[in-house]
Amino acid sequence: SVYFLQSIIQYSHQLLAEIIQQGDIVIDATCGNGHDTVFLSKKVKESGKVYAFDIQEQAIKNTKKKLDDASITNVSLIHDGHEHVKAYISEHSIAGAIFNLGYLPKGDHHIITTPSSTLAAIESILPLLKVRGRLVLVIYHGHEGGKDEKNAVIDYCAQLNQKYFQVLQYQFINQVNEPPFIIAIEKVNKLE
Ligand code: SAM
Repeated sequence: SVYFLQSIIQYSHQLLAEIIQQGDIVIDATCGNGHDTVFLSKKVKESGKVYAFDIQEQAIKNTKKKLDDASITNVSLIHDGHEHVKAYISEHSIAGAIFNLGYLPKGDHHIITTPSSTLAAIESILPLLKVRGRLVLVIYHGHEGGKDEKNAVIDYCAQLNQKYFQVLQYQFINQVNEPPFIIAIEKVNKLE
């Protein structure tokens, strides 16, 4: 068969598919229109659980419809910011988490993820990740405010201690129009 480099969305899913097992607990930090939520739900199967966050009413509605249409019942849909993740999740063995930064496609382009809440959420989730668990960020940065958030996330991730985390960047560097790219954080050792 013929292989092409995977697109950003495909690769973000592959990074999680490689490590998620049936029964796992995972997080969609920005559920938006629900594509990643449905993907995660199918990977963890009925015995697993997805916590899906969004601050935007429209996103919660769109995701709920997608879940209902597919008769999915293993998702906790949370209408709140991902920076409050600790208020909802007490399990200390999260297998995976995904963030799609930016605005809701076909939604209000002014409601965007921000550096402070994104970093707060990453900082809260990393201690909850199990060893070999992965936190995947798909970073859209072409919109106003996007560049600041991109830089804040890269600066934060670049200083993570390599004893505990390895951090991957996956990016097509010759594409025009500020395409999205991936930062993936894998926990390699238990935090001391
Ligand atoms: N993954 C989604 C999908 O499959 O359709 C797309 C997500 S979209 C790029 C980003 C989403 O982040 C928007 O729906 C926005 O409302 C949401 N958002 C912004 N700030 C947030 C926060 N602090 N906590 C959770 N979600 C947030």
